[in-house]
Amino acid sequence: MSRKVSLIRGDGIGPEIVDATVSVIEALGVNLEWEEVRAGSGAYKDLGTPLPEETLLSIARNQCVLKGPLETPIGTGFRSINVAIRKHFDMYANVRPAKISPAMTTRFSDTKVDMVIVRENTEGAYAGIEHVIPPNRAAAETIILITRWACERIVRYAFEYARREGRSKVTLVHKANILKESNGLLLEVGQTIAREYDDIQFEDMIVDNCCMQMVVRPEQFDVIVTENLFGDILSDLAAGLIGGLGLTPGANIGEGAAMFEAVHGTAPDIAGKGIANPTALMRSAGMMLGHLGYVSEGKLLEKAITKALASPSTRTGDLGGTANTKTYTQALISAIQEG
Ligand code: NAD
Repeated sequence: MSRKVSLIRGDGIGPEIVDATVSVIEALGVNLEWEEVRAGSGAYKDLGTPLPEETLLSIARNQCVLKGPLETPIGTGFRSINVAIRKHFDMYANVRPAKISPAMTTRFSDTKVDMVIVRENTEGAYAGIEHVIPPNRAAAETIILITRWACERIVRYAFEYARREGRSKVTLVHKANILKESNGLLLEVGQTIAREYDDIQFEDMIVDNCCMQMVVRPEQFDVIVTENLFGDILSDLAAGLIGGLGLTPGANIGEGAAMFEAVHGTAPDIAGKGIANPTALMRSAGMMLGHLGYVSEGKLLEKAITKALASPSTRTGDLGGTANTKTYTQALISAIQEG
């Protein structure tokens, strides 16, 4: 029996990289049935809403969605459609692995970079609790709300993830020396929960030091768990370590539904040109395959990506190669067929 998955092709380069990803999953022989639904500025133009009810219903039914990047149209009452979907389904853990591919030469190729950033996705400065103070916007206030409950579930998620994935260390990143209450709470919860996982090493690190350490000694990091804003920044830093946004996947995990998407956006500057790098979305799809239990297919996909990235003739332009989206995808499919 096939497994149904909601599919959002998205805006900008979204349709190009989603189509490439779907054809690669088909080549893997995974029996998925795509339920295509709309979201983003394309949906707004065609249907009058950037987030149709049918899209939410489809994700609720299937509990799993593969999503291309979305542009949020201005004046629709949404700050971000992506955030709206994550919030609607309480996808509290944003998981972003960053591993240097042995096939690629980057500034950090001589170093082992293989870390996973687990970012709290619902609270902190990104919760949108903010207002301006009159007259003339004399001041503005954003509230950083962090609850014990959300700290507990994200820290526990990070430890469980580490155990499941055979990883040995969790680093909790914070700014508790200055944000003594909100980040102090996260640190206190982290230290308490760490005692339940004596098979996993635990340490904490102040965020500014962590930025420096990630550049100077990235090999020391395994799983990083942190709050929303720091997680957003650190995961782009990690993307830079492995060669750029075109390579970095992401998953948004809730108690029920999960959403798999690339870290990058709609890349309007290259949309429609057929040159976008689909690797980040394909790796997100690889995480989705693991999530759905197709572990060996996910591994085969990563092996094929490593093979295709190894040669400039099968790498896309953003990575210094000469391939386009189609020829790169074809190289991947051939690599999958070779096994
Ligand atoms: P972006 O990630 O779209 O682009 C940044 C740069 O990276 C551009 O030069 C782009 O060409 C390049 N790039 C990105 N992905 C690429 C790929 N797969 N292959 C080759 N090059 C790639 O960031 P931006 O320009 O700041 O944002 C554009 C739009 O995307 C905005 O509307 C933003 O809100 C949206 N966005 C959506 C998501 C999402 O849906 N999850 C995430 C980030 C940004």
